[in-house]
Order: sequence, then C-alpha cells, then structure tokens
Amino acid sequence: MVLDAFRLDGRVALVTGANRGIGRAVATALAQAGADLALLGRTDPAETVAVVEALGRRALVVPGDLATAGPDQFADAVESAVAELGRLDILVNNAGIIRRAAAVTHPPQDWAAVLRVDLDAVFHLCQAAGRIMLDQGHGKIINIASMLSYQGGVRVPSYTAAKHAVVGLTRALANEWAAHGVNVNAIAPGYMATDNTAALRADPDRERAIRDRIPAGRWGDPEDLMGAAVFLASDAARYVHGAVLAVDGGWLAR
Ligand code: NAP
Repeated sequence: MVLDAFRLDGRVALVTGANRGIGRAVATALAQAGADLALLGRTDPAETVAVVEALGRRALVVPGDLATAGPDQFADAVESAVAELGRLDILVNNAGIIRRAAAVTHPPQDWAAVLRVDLDAVFHLCQAAGRIMLDQGHGKIINIASMLSYQGGVRVPSYTAAKHAVVGLTRALANEWAAHGVNVNAIAPGYMATDNTAALRADPDRERAIRDRIPAGRWGDPEDLMGAAVFLASDAARYVHGAVLAVDGGWLAR
C-alpha cells in the first residue's frame, strides 16, 4: 500500500541543528514516521530528545560545532551514530546561519563563517554519510536549500552564494550516487517563522512586504516542512534524485 512506502520504521536518521527551528520539526517528523534520530549540533537538543523519546524512538546526541569541525570530525560524528544506533539511512543537512550586511562591506569573517557552516559542513557530512550509504547500497540525503538558492536576496551575499552552491552540490552528488541507490535531494523552504528570519519579521515594513508577496498569505511554520522531509527520506521518493522541492507558500510561482 502506498502509505507504507512513507514509513521509516527501523531507519536511522542524522539531522544537524535539530535543537530548534526547522531542524526540530524535521527530526520530529522523521521520528513520527518511525525513525530513530542522531542529533548533531553544538547546543543541547534536550527538547527535541524529549519529543523523539515520547514517540517511542531513540535519540542520540552527537555534540559538534559545524563551524570548526573538519572532515575527520564529521566522519567521526557519522561513525558514532552508526556505532550507537546500528545503522545510517538518512542524513538531513539542516543547520545553517545567515549574516546580513551590504555586499560592499560584507565582513570577510561573515563570508567565511557562512560558507563554512552552510556549505563546507554540508559537503563533508554528505561525503561521510555517502561512504556508508554507497557501501550499503541505499540512503537518503536531504539538504536544506532556500529561496536564495534561486534568487539573489538583499544584504545576504554569503548566504545566497552558499545556498546556490547547496543546490549545485545536491545535483552533483545525485549524478554520482543515484545509480548506487543513494538519493540526494534538497528542500527549499520559503520564508519561515524561525530565529533565522527574526530580524525580517521585527521590521514591520519588511515583514509586510514579504507576507504580501507570498501567495499563501502567511509565513511558513517549520511544521509545514514535515511532509516533504518524510517523503524525501522514504521509499516513496526512491526515483527522486537531484530534485529541489520548494515548500514556499507559492513564493517561486509568483
Ligand atoms: P534557526 O532557527 O536559526 O536554527 C539554526 C540551526 O542551525 C540551529 O539548530 C543552530 O544551532 C544550528 N547551527 C547554526 N550554527 C551551527 C554550528 N556552527 N554548529 C552546529 N549547529 C549550528 O534557523 P532555521 O530557520 O531553523 O534554519 C534551518 C535551516 O533552514 C538553515 O539551513 C536555514 O538556512 C534554512 N532556511 C531557513 C529559512 C527560514 O525562513 N527560516 C528559509 C530557507 C532556508 P544553535 O542553536 O546551536 O545555534
């Protein structure tokens, strides 16, 4: 039955940045669908652990700072998830930062920090998980892209560069790994009400301008991404490779 193909019972997922925002909603969705969770991040994800465990699923906390970790640390993080939870079926590269400053004066340290967390960490985690998934002949990788994977944005050149690159990387990996049973795809959230967009929502003119441009007429909630995450993590998406699934209230259609 088709709905069975969406179930994730017995699977193990690693999600980055699941202590709040979109990562918490995605981790919750995967746990609701039956997966056990490894939660990789720098802040204790106690609330997310409680939610996952209340669903009867296991939650493993894997401490790690994506801004400072290198390829070896990411490989260790993935290995510890496999060692503790027995396997790895799903990777969600969710953690991300944004720095707002005009392009002409965009601080070099902001450029470096954003590229490191939003792109370098994504690639190194894809590599580390990909080695395991290619060996076992199956796996699902979901990278979190953005509307700024399509558009230029204003005062966010580092973020736009990183998020465009995330889509390119998703497609590049899909081309290499699809024939080996590994699905690499992305979700492009629209404008979601999280800490990432707090500055935009605190400015009444910007908030109104953005909301007026969204065909759905409202900002998204992290929970709006739950269905897309479960779909791309599941057997229902077995022939979906290199896709970017926009969950944006119609923003791109405008
Ligand atoms: P958020 O509420 O600001 O959460 C960001 C998450 O990333 C937090 O868990 C944070 O952990 C983690 N993180 C940041 N730097 C890290 C580091 N150095 N090491 C480990 N973890 C780190 O943002 P969000 O809106 O949920 O964003 C999640 C993803 O969706 C990001 O990739 C973002 O670019 C993307 N996105 C968001 C929107 C939106 O409208 N909100 C739209 C499109 C795409 P800490 O709590 O430790 O900082």
